Amino acid sequence: MTRVFNFSAGPAALPEPVLRRAAEEMLDWHGSGMSVMEMSHRGREFIGIAAKAEADLRELLAVPSNYKVLFMQGGAIGENAVVPMNLLRGKSSIDFVDTGEWSKKSIKEAKKYAAVNVAASAADTGYDRVPARAQWKLDANAAYVHICSNETIGGVEYHFTPDVGEVPLVADMSSDILSRPVDVSKYGLIYAGAQKNIGPAGLTIVIVRDDLIGQALPITPSAFDFKTVADNESMYNTPPTYAIYIAGLVFEWLKERGGLAAIAEHNRRKAAVLYDYLGTTAFYNSPVQADCRSLMNVPFKLRDESLDAAFLKGAEAKGMVQLKGHRSVGGMRASIYNAMPIEGVQTLVAYMKEFEAKNG
Ligand SMILES: *Cc1c(COP(=O)(O)O)cnc(C)c1O
Repeated sequence: MTRVFNFSAGPAALPEPVLRRAAEEMLDWHGSGMSVMEMSHRGREFIGIAAKAEADLRELLAVPSNYKVLFMQGGAIGENAVVPMNLLRGKSSIDFVDTGEWSKKSIKEAKKYAAVNVAASAADTGYDRVPARAQWKLDANAAYVHICSNETIGGVEYHFTPDVGEVPLVADMSSDILSRPVDVSKYGLIYAGAQKNIGPAGLTIVIVRDDLIGQALPITPSAFDFKTVADNESMYNTPPTYAIYIAGLVFEWLKERGGLAAIAEHNRRKAAVLYDYLGTTAFYNSPVQADCRSLMNVPFKLRDESLDAAFLKGAEAKGMVQLKGHRSVGGMRASIYNAMPIEGVQTLVAYMKEFEAKNG
């Protein structure tokens, strides 16, 4: 068996110990005589699995008790509609900060349900930064302020939590949730698709403050009304049971590694291996302003694009896959989520140096 260094943006690499444990437990979970995939979501075993996953997630993120943790489906793109449906609360407009492709998608979807005010945008500088908080033109009557904490495609990440006053702050954290500690109390709502830093695709996590739920638009499908989901402990309809189980194993793995402060330190050191090298060469360059660079998704370009295909082919031959940048921006992108070991990034940088020496 050979495992590659998988730099995919998502679905992404999972920790190997998690996959091994899932394999061991595949046919007979803890003497139940069945796979987790075959269990009733209302049975004692699965209810225990889901409760443990929620408790561990709450512990990792120190989620305050006045917040609900919901296990949903539909992905982050689904939440782009579900959040406005639930959080307008009689208001008519939403503030957005536009930092790239995922912000733009959120804005487009929200326009179906509300007026949208783009309070700040980095479009005019090619999405190379988070606009400084002082430049945001917020509306005190907005239902909420939406940000994307990490632009997975552009590699732009917030390294601060913006203060937006009394208006609830909503964050799409799909690609940096659990990569570092977060003060959940500063947010009204956090959502994330699981397939980047949590577990398998199909599970969507929503963390929402109690007082914001219960006023969904009447057209909201019951399965996506946060109140219905919360009142039924995420079992109003059948949840993605196997994805919740794997996410639970990832939470246990994170706890064993010392929690989010420890993983954040590891992530900083890991990303620095790549960014430090990018700072020393003109053969490659990073398109993002230094203080907004993502620790999870590192886009970089070869000075000479005509070498892109050879670069990718050589990487693959050395067991490094999925380094091609998103089609909308081109170049390369190394996604280095929690599960990527530092050796993966060291191997990549060694290869980049070798490639530069040969072609520079
Ligand atoms: C991947 C991603 C999405 C899309 O999520 P789906 O699960 O495909 O709906 C949305 N936002 C961000 C920030 C992402 O990284």
